[in-house]
Amino acid sequence: MTILFQHRCLTLLFVLLFWNTFLYSKTEQKMVLVLHSYNSGLSWTDSTNFGIFDGFQEGQYGIVDLRVEFMDTKHFEDSNYFEYYKNYLAYKYQKLNFDAIICGDNPAFNFLCKHHVALFKNTPIVFCGLNYPDSIPHGFTGIIEDVDIYNNLNSIIKIHPKYNKLYIINDKSITGKSLKRELDHVIKSNFPGLKYEYLTNYTLSELEEKLETLKENDAVLMLLFNFDRQGTTFSFDYILDEIAPHCKAPIYGVWTFYLGKGIVGGKILSAYEHGYLASGMVKQILDGKTTSEIPIINGPAHYWYDYKILRKHDISKFSLPKDAHIINLPYDFVLKNKIFFTLLSIILILLIFLILVLYIQVKRVRANLRKEKTLVTAIETKSDELKLALTKAEQANNLKTAFLSNISHEIRTPMNGILGFSSLLQPNMDTIIQEEYINTINLCGNQLLCIINDILDISKIESQQIKINHEVLLLNQTIDNVVSAFNNSSRFNKTKIEVHKPLPDNEAVLNTDGVKFQQILSNLLSNAIKFSENGTIEIGYYVKKNELEFYVKDNGIGIDRQYHEIIFDRFRQVDERNDKIYGGNGLGLSISKAFVELLGGKIWLTSELHKGSTFFFTLPYQKPPRIANTETEIPISSKMNSNLTVLIAEDDEFNFMFLKELLSPYIPTIIHAKTGREAILMTSQQQVDVILMDLKMPDIGGIQATQIIHQQQAHIPIIIQTAFTSQSEKEKAFEAGCADYLTKPINKEILLRKIREHTHMP
Ligand code: ADP
Repeated sequence: MTILFQHRCLTLLFVLLFWNTFLYSKTEQKMVLVLHSYNSGLSWTDSTNFGIFDGFQEGQYGIVDLRVEFMDTKHFEDSNYFEYYKNYLAYKYQKLNFDAIICGDNPAFNFLCKHHVALFKNTPIVFCGLNYPDSIPHGFTGIIEDVDIYNNLNSIIKIHPKYNKLYIINDKSITGKSLKRELDHVIKSNFPGLKYEYLTNYTLSELEEKLETLKENDAVLMLLFNFDRQGTTFSFDYILDEIAPHCKAPIYGVWTFYLGKGIVGGKILSAYEHGYLASGMVKQILDGKTTSEIPIINGPAHYWYDYKILRKHDISKFSLPKDAHIINLPYDFVLKNKIFFTLLSIILILLIFLILVLYIQVKRVRANLRKEKTLVTAIETKSDELKLALTKAEQANNLKTAFLSNISHEIRTPMNGILGFSSLLQPNMDTIIQEEYINTINLCGNQLLCIINDILDISKIESQQIKINHEVLLLNQTIDNVVSAFNNSSRFNKTKIEVHKPLPDNEAVLNTDGVKFQQILSNLLSNAIKFSENGTIEIGYYVKKNELEFYVKDNGIGIDRQYHEIIFDRFRQVDERNDKIYGGNGLGLSISKAFVELLGGKIWLTSELHKGSTFFFTLPYQKPPRIANTETEIPISSKMNSNLTVLIAEDDEFNFMFLKELLSPYIPTIIHAKTGREAILMTSQQQVDVILMDLKMPDIGGIQATQIIHQQQAHIPIIIQTAFTSQSEKEKAFEAGCADYLTKPINKEILLRKIREHTHMP
């Protein structure tokens, strides 16, 4: 038991000892001595020191025991001082073993080269800030302070391509001399044409005076001025403050301690970086490497410029080398809050994108809505149109039905008359009754003809086959003829017709289609008579600027306002029962409207129910020039005195009677042929001076009869008189050999004039 206990206690002791040794070896502090050539407070030295300290803060070397010594060789540099200093170090560190030593700048390096074996045996040494050493002893490694002369000169020339002269400030220190050597070499081999001057052998005040003389387009390269010709020393920090205000030309430099003190900038060596790199090398030694395993390196240099001085000399940022850093930049809020602004920009871009997407979406929706709206409107319009078309079709259908029943009534009435009275006619009946029956049959026949003519006219209007035949129309005469035709009709005897013709006959001349004009007037007059029982009717015209305004006024039943427009539609009647009372087919006004418009006018009405109506229409009118011997001027009837024989070829008894009545006062012999054949026969049997030929005749028609008579007796003038006035008919008549052409109703004056003309009467 005791043996076991002893054994256990021994094991525990051994573990504790081992653990202690392990812990001790792990926590054993490394000792590093830092020996600076100059004094603390010198910016170069301080920066180097910061670099070293910062370097040891990183990694596991925070526990390194750093001892820092400042040799202060700027102020003490005699051999006695170095002897004392050696003894001081020997005394101070006699009990300490350093793992490595860092020496900053040339004096410390030189001191250690001489004394490190005596003082620190074989402790490895890392140097930094070392300029141009003659040789490097064994056990030393570190960072050489290699000023980049070539790039410094090159960048100055690039920034000032039009420089006048480059002045180089340098002292006669070891570093200064080394720099001059290097500079001469670089200029010789790379910038042979460089205009430059060294400012070396000057006192401070002389240097300042010299700098005063420089111009703005000169340039200065400040290498070193640690002491002047008289041996007065100046710190790095002080010297630039002193000389910069005396110099108008831009000053460039190669060390960090001048940056921010008045130099523009340059490819600058950084003491901090030297210290930092030196600590890195020491760390490698502490990790077990020897100095010979760590290669000596050149200290890095970077382009640094001072924004304030760049502004002072108006030097553009763009003339600087690409990788240049700039100090003293004005506070840039955006740059300082880079993350915030980057985030803000991203959010803004996203928002803009979102707005854009929404905008496009809204536009699309709107376009679709617009399309739908247009479609709906189109559908609505179409359905409205369809509704209208349906209503119209229904109306048209109703109208057609009404028209058919109406027209059958209209046709049946005269037909009954014709058939009824024809059956009553007996050969042995009283001649007076016989004549009365024949007259009734004639009247019914005319009525029937009117209805058929109306239907023919409306179908021609529908199919646009109506042609206009312009001719000279004697207006007053024509109105009289139309009125007298109505007055002669026994049916209308009770109605009084007043005529108003303001133009004298010679001015009442229209160039229009006479047949259509008469038809318009007849339609209006017949309506006026039809719809006003025992009333007074007024017919006439007013002379307007370039037209005549015709009117037919009655004091009859009148027309309600709502029908004023539609009664001009075909088959339209105000009250379909009208026809039962008044008769009619609902075509007269629509034919009249179509004719008026074809003749270049318009038609309308004013009317009041139970008071009467006035129908108006216009036709173009131009006052005719006064021409002597015109037909209208001399009433030929007064001069007519002849012994002519006139043959009237006319199947219609009434028409013949009318012509006979017209001519008998002036023509002594008037003979009558009722057919074409009779006319041909009569001209071959007796003396005939002129023939008035109707076109529509039974047996042989007017055209054929004219052709035959003309062939047999070409000297007999044939004047066609007809109610049918198509152009082709006229042409056919002239081709057949007629001498002239007259349209019904026949005007007495014109007829007599034509007879006189063609019979060569005086
Ligand atoms: P209709 O043959 O029926 O007279 P219209 O076309 O000439 O045909 O006239 C159409 C309708 O206009 C007539 O049926 C009638 O109702 C009305 N009308 C025409 N003229 C007159 C008028 N002077 N006075 C009253 N109503 C008229």
